[in-house]
Amino acid sequence: MNRRNYQKELEKIISRCGERQPTVLLHSCCGPCSSSVLEYLTQFFQVTILWYNPNLYPEDEYVRRLETQKELLEKMGLAEKVHLLTEPWKSEEYYGAVAGCEEEPEGGKRCEKCFRLRLEECARIAKLHGFDYFCSTLTVSRHKNAVLINTIGEAAAQKAGISWLPSDFKKRDGENRSVELSEKYGIYRQVYCGCEFSLRARQQPKREIPAEQEGTGSE
Ligand code: SF4
Repeated sequence: MNRRNYQKELEKIISRCGERQPTVLLHSCCGPCSSSVLEYLTQFFQVTILWYNPNLYPEDEYVRRLETQKELLEKMGLAEKVHLLTEPWKSEEYYGAVAGCEEEPEGGKRCEKCFRLRLEECARIAKLHGFDYFCSTLTVSRHKNAVLINTIGEAAAQKAGISWLPSDFKKRDGENRSVELSEKYGIYRQVYCGCEFSLRARQQPKREIPAEQEGTGSE
């Protein structure tokens, strides 16, 4: 069993930062998730956001979430301080990466491949531009497996020859803070994870739950 505390590991790195703020390329999955992460990380790092989310579907949604990211940076007063690197919508990269796993449930193999695709690209760009670290907002969500994300991040780091910044942003009440900040700034909050398959699952009529199974906490 993995007993690592990724938040503590991050705090240890922060405690060694000193005067010079290290640079970090932060993969952002969406504006709302990035809000509390930006509030926290910009205290200690020079943050640049990478917008690489070829999983998003349809293209209008990709554009809308990207615009929301920009709006958030403006409203948080970070538009000057935090640079934003964007990649065009390359859905073929996503479909290629998850081929054969389309019917997997959310949280299964398809998501693992989706994380890997985005984190490996972030590692590649971070190495190319000489960042000290790269990391992702993905660990802010309680619906996403932080151990898996950190494991994939570390493997991507090793492959690219750069440092992964460990995180478990939900540990500091990051997810609730993200909701608070999103409401405060009135930004768009999507109701599905992002891909075509998660949209379809969201649109399916909810299965009737027998009374004795209600309230189990699963989404
Ligand atoms: S459900 Fe979310 S994490 Fe999983 S494959 Fe779809 S977009 Fe990626």
